[in-house]
Amino acid sequence: MKRISKVRVEHRDEPRGGRIVRIATSVGTVETPTRAPTSTELNAKVNIHFEEPWDNLVFEVASRFLDVAQVQALHQKNGAYATKRRALAAQVDKFRGYALTKYFPQLALGTTLDARDVRTLLDLQVEAGFDVISIPEPSSSCTLKRFEENLDRSWSYISAQDGDLAVMPYASMSQDPAAFKAKLTALVEHEGDLRAIGLHFASPLTFRPNYLTLSEFGDRDVWFHSSGGRRYPSPRQPLAQLHAIQRFGVDSVSLGVPQAPVRGDPDWRYVRYFDRGTVTYPRIQEACGREASLPCGCPLCRHRKLDDLVSHMRSLGNQDELVLRINDAARVHEVYASTAEFEDARRAIREGRLVRYFRRKAGLKPFLMPEDNQARLVLE
Ligand SMILES: [Zn+2]
Repeated sequence: MKRISKVRVEHRDEPRGGRIVRIATSVGTVETPTRAPTSTELNAKVNIHFEEPWDNLVFEVASRFLDVAQVQALHQKNGAYATKRRALAAQVDKFRGYALTKYFPQLALGTTLDARDVRTLLDLQVEAGFDVISIPEPSSSCTLKRFEENLDRSWSYISAQDGDLAVMPYASMSQDPAAFKAKLTALVEHEGDLRAIGLHFASPLTFRPNYLTLSEFGDRDVWFHSSGGRRYPSPRQPLAQLHAIQRFGVDSVSLGVPQAPVRGDPDWRYVRYFDRGTVTYPRIQEACGREASLPCGCPLCRHRKLDDLVSHMRSLGNQDELVLRINDAARVHEVYASTAEFEDARRAIREGRLVRYFRRKAGLKPFLMPEDNQARLVLE
């Protein structure tokens, strides 16, 4: 069965009012904009023994490669490949039949892959049983010619193994604007056959030209998925930027693997908590306010006091681990809350009021564009 049989833009508002895409998959129809939980978030769920499911239809396994040597090890060191494949297959097994599974090899910026590195990453995904096979970009600075050769070679290779698999070629959002435009144009020429395009996340504050380019392709029946996302630009700007990029036609988002494990910030009260009201990440204690109740109706937070959450997490391990477990709880909450917030945004898109929705959210206001103010003047 085709893993992705059809992608269709159901609703679109210009200019940059967002879009709703329906993706017909082997596990059901995905409606966007939405969020895809990742293996990092799943680990958080396991750590806190939280058993209620997520009902997201796309699940991403992400692995972080610090440098090209870690990719090369997969085809140069005995056992490395088999170990990795087994670990990935175990993740895929948990979601088979429930969610469309995909893999994101998170490579450091500036990494260059040769043909054998790419082939190894493709084999790894096919053998582990993923539904959507990511085709890595040889490097974010590669030429258009090299990019297209890699696409053609990888795509035929995967189709020859299993014609029902979906492919998702990646392009980095942090590259030169002219190169990005050329690569995206080349990919979108395959509209109809190519149903998914992956974007390696970069901040929309810094890389706006590439996001503007992306928005020009908003009428295309292709699923644009952003991987490797960062939750907020900086601790001083705790804005939920993954919710901002839907304006440019990004249909779904996933978080990247953090740079380093959350280090022992000794105080659990400082753990960041996704707040739907503002679409920002206040500290968990600030988010709860005077009532000290978790301000969210998700299965993790519903009817819970912050104190109850803390004492429950304390029961799972020693004091040193408390901040890690509260952070895990915040991540599990975030999958539910962010997914639900995307559903609200979807309604706003359908009703042609995404810009108004952005204006109402403190975390999204900084992403408004000059054209939005003009639109407001006209309306007033
Ligand atoms: Zn919650």
